[in-house]
Amino acid sequence: MLKPNLHYQELKDSYLFNTIYQKTDAYLAAHPGEKVYKMGVGDVSLPLCPAVIQALHDGVEDQGNPDRFHGYMPERGDLSLREAVAGYYREMGVTRSADEIFISSGACDDLGDLLELFDRDNRVLVTEPAYPEYVDTNLLAGREVLHLAAGEADGFLPAPDPDIQADILYLCSPNNPTGAVYDREGLQAWVDYANRQGAVILFDAAYESFIREPQFPRSIYEIPGADTCAIEICSLSKTAGFTGTRLGYTVVPEALTRMGVSLNAMWARNRETRTNGVSYILQKGAAAVFTPQGREQIRANLRVYQDNADRFIEVLDQAGIWYCGGKNSPYLWMKCPDGMSGWEFFDYLLEKIQVVGIPGEGFGACGKGYFRFSTFGSPEDTREAARRLAELLGKGK
Ligand code: PLP
Repeated sequence: MLKPNLHYQELKDSYLFNTIYQKTDAYLAAHPGEKVYKMGVGDVSLPLCPAVIQALHDGVEDQGNPDRFHGYMPERGDLSLREAVAGYYREMGVTRSADEIFISSGACDDLGDLLELFDRDNRVLVTEPAYPEYVDTNLLAGREVLHLAAGEADGFLPAPDPDIQADILYLCSPNNPTGAVYDREGLQAWVDYANRQGAVILFDAAYESFIREPQFPRSIYEIPGADTCAIEICSLSKTAGFTGTRLGYTVVPEALTRMGVSLNAMWARNRETRTNGVSYILQKGAAAVFTPQGREQIRANLRVYQDNADRFIEVLDQAGIWYCGGKNSPYLWMKCPDGMSGWEFFDYLLEKIQVVGIPGEGFGACGKGYFRFSTFGSPEDTREAARRLAELLGKGK
């Protein structure tokens, strides 16, 4: 008889968002006509930029033209797009060859598929609070997952613990949910630790484009030694509004080997087996993101989200509340006032000012007592939500 993957029973229910929707709907049903300001959602609100839309149209036209039609695309992605990504890295002072860059359908897909490079017996270390996929994908594969709790004392940026032995290390900077971002020294400690242990870092750089302050690295390859221990996973989802369009890229350096085996060669082989490439039309659209015109247009969109972040920063600074994130990230992670739990604060905000965010408890035990705001809402809604929050926090509970 077929034996299903019983590890599915180890996954937690995705009760977090369901509970948020239920509570919000219940409030609206009890208060008809009122508006709720949804400041929790991690999805973009601005549309794709005009340069991308034009390129997507051009791609569609190409597919109807016998001279410009494309069939299967290379499994690693179109060479010119990979070269464009390599050019983007060069601006950060990072040299990556097109052969080290793999185009994907988004970070989520690759974060799961990459685990096929590793034996099941490897131990996994996840810094918490964390994006849930890191834990879930490894539990499903039957791997042991260790948790390294972050907290206010380390600014939600934990340093490696030399007493912990692990093989696969997850780092996300700027972080979802905390918005905290590692500086060079912080990342160097992780790179040195990984190289010492022979571990591999899966570096999730989905939010790199939100970094405004140049002292913070946008790529782990800005750190000496990362070539021999890190795989970087990137996405155009938040950078260029591709959440519903789907395109990302993953970097596996040629210098990254374990037990004499090249992880770059393994990943290339994996792609041949697991994918027939990303659609030509989407790659054409993505290439426009890296043109000067596309870059200018997406920068304008990013500025909207950064201005939204500034609205929250002003309020929290004024109220003297501890928080991290916001400045270099689309998320702010605040300490709930008066010792409230995240869920208590959620109910308080919904009831008093009709603002919805995400209770920190939803991202693991060390998120208790914290709350995440997202800055992906419209400027109008964000301004009003921030105004209401300032008024409420000014009054005290
Ligand atoms: N990694 C992090 C930290 C994220 O927050 C997200 C999406 O919210 C992803 C990866 C997935 O990105 P993508 O849309 O490219 O699959």
